[in-house]
Amino acid sequence: MRVFKFGGASIKNADAIRNVAEIVTNYKNGKLVLVVSALGKTTNALEEIADAIYNKEAELSAERIDALKAGHFAILDELFEDKQHIAFRDLEQFFERLMDIQRFYTLKNITIDAGYDYLYDQIVSFGELMSTNMVSHYLRHRSLPVYWLDVRTVLKTDSRYREGGVNWEVTEQLIQAKLQPLIDSQLVITQGFLGSTVENHTTTLGREGSDYTAAIMAYCLDAEELVIWKDVPGVLNADPRLFPDARLLKKISYSEAVELAYYGATVIHPKTIKPLQNKNITLRVRSFIYPTDEGTIVSTATGHDHEIPSIIYKQNQALLTLGTKDFSFIIEENLSHIFRLFADFGVKVGMMQATAINFTVCIDHDKAKLPSLIKTLEQDYRVESQENLQLVTIRHFDADTLKQALKGRDPIISQEGKVMARYVVG
Ligand code: ASP
Ligand code: MG
Repeated sequence: MRVFKFGGASIKNADAIRNVAEIVTNYKNGKLVLVVSALGKTTNALEEIADAIYNKEAELSAERIDALKAGHFAILDELFEDKQHIAFRDLEQFFERLMDIQRFYTLKNITIDAGYDYLYDQIVSFGELMSTNMVSHYLRHRSLPVYWLDVRTVLKTDSRYREGGVNWEVTEQLIQAKLQPLIDSQLVITQGFLGSTVENHTTTLGREGSDYTAAIMAYCLDAEELVIWKDVPGVLNADPRLFPDARLLKKISYSEAVELAYYGATVIHPKTIKPLQNKNITLRVRSFIYPTDEGTIVSTATGHDHEIPSIIYKQNQALLTLGTKDFSFIIEENLSHIFRLFADFGVKVGMMQATAINFTVCIDHDKAKLPSLIKTLEQDYRVESQENLQLVTIRHFDADTLKQALKGRDPIISQEGKVMARYVVG
């Protein structure tokens, strides 16, 4: 069996959804599970709704919900001629529930004890619930035998909202028990990005987490292959918007894919690879615009990784330089403390460099976390920070690629290894 993942761009309007139906209908090679994200940029819109609700902006949040509702209904309108179709009623119900939550939490005397992250997940999850409902109805309308699965009944996480950690053991059991008997005869469609705690509170796996969900499904069902359908031809060696002559990487290894994804190639979520690699499941990244093209194959060591240099930019980076106040050696005496703090704050480190008394790290600049992280670090260290930086990674580099990637900029920090060169630039 195979798992197909369709992201927001692949279902951003009625034509796109018809195209998905076309791809699924043309697939005649057996069992299929579909993992689907929210429509287009819905998750961004829901994040803004969550913010407005959290800030008790009743009017603003209601307006934003109305706008999202209009967008969703416009798509249904184009998909279904019969305006009595049950899809319209289902969508209406989702929005009624969302409005109920909005009205409750924007009441002046209600405090949100469970915190922002909890509220965020309860609201943002509507995106995938609605999109999968709409796509299911449409696929049924096209005579496909669809089973809509609420992924929260099988994908169990801890209660770290917005970054749910998967309970693999329980999840594997539940997915197998629920889906094995179904996939022979039905086309299962389910939500990416969502999970739930043992108490059945909705969680999410982190932004862009649907690829990860698809990998979890593939792992638990021992799939032959996971296909991620994208608006690009596959994994490219650079961002085609910045480098028009970017080239397709036809075959890469799992480890190459992890490195590319970790350092900012947005084509696949970095967590996707490990579950696949553990069971030797092939990942294919293919274009939903040119669905007969081969795309990229990610599998065990291919020997092709070094053939084409890749350039990856990671935006919105901050550089922290920590110095000891008492001239103690930073690596010997302080590093475990510093990393403990990074872990507590959920900070992701992209690059680091140390001298005897200074330690410099390049991290993702999370506006919500950085000021309090710096404050905490300042209790024990001298801290300097630089923001709005870019991390440039070049894999399998040569002089020419290096020049193209840096565009004449002078790096603040450089690290050149055998396979990979990395620079922090302003
Ligand atoms: N809809 C979610 C997001 O945009 C998950 C995903 O697309 O992978 O972050
Ligand atoms: Mg999305």
